Amino acid sequence: MTSALYPTFARADLAFERGEGVRLFTADGTEYLDFASGIAVNSLGHCHPHLVKALTEQAGRVWHVSNLYQVPGQEELARRLTENSFADAVFFTNSGAEALECAIKTARRYHYASGSPERYRLITFEGAFHGRTLATIAAGGQPKYLEGFGPAVDGFDQVPFDDLDAVRAAIGPQTAGILIEPVQGEGGLRPVPFATMRALRALCDEHGLLLIVDEVQCGVARTGKLFAYEWSGIEPDIMALAKGIGGGFPMGACLATREAVKGMVHGVHGTTFGGNPLAMAVGNAVLDVVLEPGFIDHVREMGLRFRQGLARIADEHPGIIETVRGEGLMMGVKCRVPNKELVAALQAERLLCVGAGDNVVRLMPPLIVEASDIDAALDRIDAACRALEAAAALRRASA
Ligand SMILES: *Cc1c(COP(=O)(O)O)cnc(C)c1O
Repeated sequence: MTSALYPTFARADLAFERGEGVRLFTADGTEYLDFASGIAVNSLGHCHPHLVKALTEQAGRVWHVSNLYQVPGQEELARRLTENSFADAVFFTNSGAEALECAIKTARRYHYASGSPERYRLITFEGAFHGRTLATIAAGGQPKYLEGFGPAVDGFDQVPFDDLDAVRAAIGPQTAGILIEPVQGEGGLRPVPFATMRALRALCDEHGLLLIVDEVQCGVARTGKLFAYEWSGIEPDIMALAKGIGGGFPMGACLATREAVKGMVHGVHGTTFGGNPLAMAVGNAVLDVVLEPGFIDHVREMGLRFRQGLARIADEHPGIIETVRGEGLMMGVKCRVPNKELVAALQAERLLCVGAGDNVVRLMPPLIVEASDIDAALDRIDAACRALEAAAALRRASA
């Protein structure tokens, strides 16, 4: 039967009926270990009892009222996010791309309100991914995402990854800020060196620019800090969040300092669904768990165990895996075979993962993963590597 959906996704021939913790089950009961987490979204795994309770209780009270009225859950979640970050103010969205749109608009309006409306350009980095709206594909700058959609939205100047001289050269009288993922996700799990993050902060201070971090994928404890910018000891002016903050409920947020948000006055931006009571109930419930003492230590511990295991497997299968990359539970391996082959071999071993740029396979389990799950995943990764080696040996023998 032909599908009535847009054919924009290359979906695996796999559907799940039920999820529990780090596991997903197909209709016939086959169990998969979920180290994709819906692309780093299911931060607390599937059907976490605290999230199910928060969502179902809210569903029995009120679903949606719009931003015409007070939404107490927004006030609460914004207060908790600002208390636990650099930020003073929050705008809630439905997705990562919308959080980035708000971040870009906030930066442009800051300079407008400061009397420099000509400052609207943002410096971005090769390999970046910021979403699929017209502005965010221009920010990401990937030709494959821009092709055929008309002139790219103006206002983004892209420089090579981790090239400070290029950043300095790109700063001009129209520059408003620098937009960066502290750990590139889609681009292939490339962490920005901490010294580079500090140098970008210093450049922003020197030139009156805003530093915007895109933590849509690496935020909310994924790297073993609540926010990835914390690793470098600096603070941004604006931050985009989504993915893990909703634990599977679609939501995002743009956070800013009091100073950076000064142009976003009454009426200049809006959303119908953003910050709706269902999303806020789940977002607050995610934070209840993530902010529990010891939770982030657990992420770091599991990340270390996973990294050591992956390094061992990489040593044992140098023909399959070149290097291990990432931070915390945002891990990946750069492959020597096409990454699609490793993704398929892992799926055959019932381990779910996500391909990324630079021939990388992303392994991003729910943050509630236990040592026994990590060890089970490592066994399946080892088995997948052996299967690929056996297939290559067969091909050589028959050639
Ligand atoms: C996924 C992602 C986005 C886009 O989020 P959507 O919810 O798909 O719009 C933006 N930036 C980064 C770093 C991402 O990983």
